[in-house]
Formats: sequence, structure tokens, C-alpha cells
Amino acid sequence: MSDEAQLEKLARQIVVCTKCELHRSRKNAVPGEGPTHAEIMLIGEGPGAREDEQGRPFVGASGKFLDKLLEQAGVTRSDVWITNVVKCRPPGNRDPLPDEVEICTSNYLQHQIKLVDPSIIVTLGRFSMGLFFKGAKITQIHGQMRKVEDRFVIAMFHPAAALHQMSLKPAIMADFAKLPELLKEARAELGKSSPRAKVPKKKTTSRRK
Ligand code: URA
Repeated sequence: MSDEAQLEKLARQIVVCTKCELHRSRKNAVPGEGPTHAEIMLIGEGPGAREDEQGRPFVGASGKFLDKLLEQAGVTRSDVWITNVVKCRPPGNRDPLPDEVEICTSNYLQHQIKLVDPSIIVTLGRFSMGLFFKGAKITQIHGQMRKVEDRFVIAMFHPAAALHQMSLKPAIMADFAKLPELLKEARAELGKSSPRAKVPKKKTTSRRK
């Protein structure tokens, strides 16, 4: 079966999943989306109310901000694979519980990562960061690219955190702006000379004469 077909199969399993309690309160599970072999994979925490309604990741307020962050880095949303640590909305937007994280990541996220096989994973917020950097503090490691097994991982603040705490906005904007350079570095290190998707170009603002 092709990687694309396997990702689709996982998505079909996710939308009917009853492996943890989160399925009881969800309207729709949110498997994630993007081009099969995207070079960049973004991993958020879990669906919010809008995502639960639509079955798609990052379509609410933090999604709009995420789109802006990607755009200023010259990356369009359709170039990246976007998903979450847990695929169903935790009721009242509470934090996902450790067993929910374990069940969802071992059954779904780990397989999605293998199939997409991105050069760079961007973790958004502390739950996805915790999958790769146990015990790390996001204030200390955000924006730094580290090799984890056969790919690179960069921890970034969650867009929702930056929306609620304006002081985080410059940091998240600066971290996203570094993505094109980091992607070049990652490709060189991983020996991937021919990009699978087009190279994001930094957005330049042209001055009117
Ligand atoms: N926050 C997340 O972590 N993921 C979403 O899909 C939306 C908001």
C-alpha cells in the first residue's frame, strides 16, 4: 500500500476511534492533513471547538494566526502536514491526560510521522514538545533545531499562547521566520538535495515609490 493510502487508512481509523474517553465528547475527530511527503510537519496539542466542528486542524483563531506565521516565512499551509498530539477535542479544552496522549500517539501520530517522513517537525506547545524533549522548558529551547533520530525537531510556542500572551508574539514570529533557513540546513544534513516540495522563499516587502 502506498504511503498516501496508509495515511488515508489511518484517518479512517481515527474518525471512528473509541480507544480513549475523548471519543465520548467529540463531534468529529481531527486526523490531520497535508501533502503525503511534506518536508515540514506541524504538531499541535489537540483540536479546539472549531476543529471539533469541522474535523480539520487549526481552523479557529490560533489557526488564522498560524497561517500568518507560515505566510511570513514564505510557507503556504498546503505545503505542510498539520496534525495534533491527540485527535479528539479534550472537553472544555482541558489538557490531554497522559493515557490519552500515549494511546493516541502510539496508535496514530507515530505512524503518521513515519509515513510523511518530514525533514523537520515543528512542535507547537508543550505537549508535542514533550514527545521529543522530555522535561525541556519551552522558554529555553524554542526555535532551536535538534536532531532526533533521523529528522530534525524544533519546539515553538503554541500560536494560542502567543495570542493570549502578547509578550510571546515576537519570539514565535522570529522562530517561524527562521524556518526557510532551518529547512535548508536540515536538507543538507540529511543529504536531501532535491526538495520534495518547493523551497519556501522569505517574504519580501516591496516599498512603493
Ligand atoms: N490548537 C491545537 O493545538 N490544535 C488545533 O488543531 C487547534 C488549536
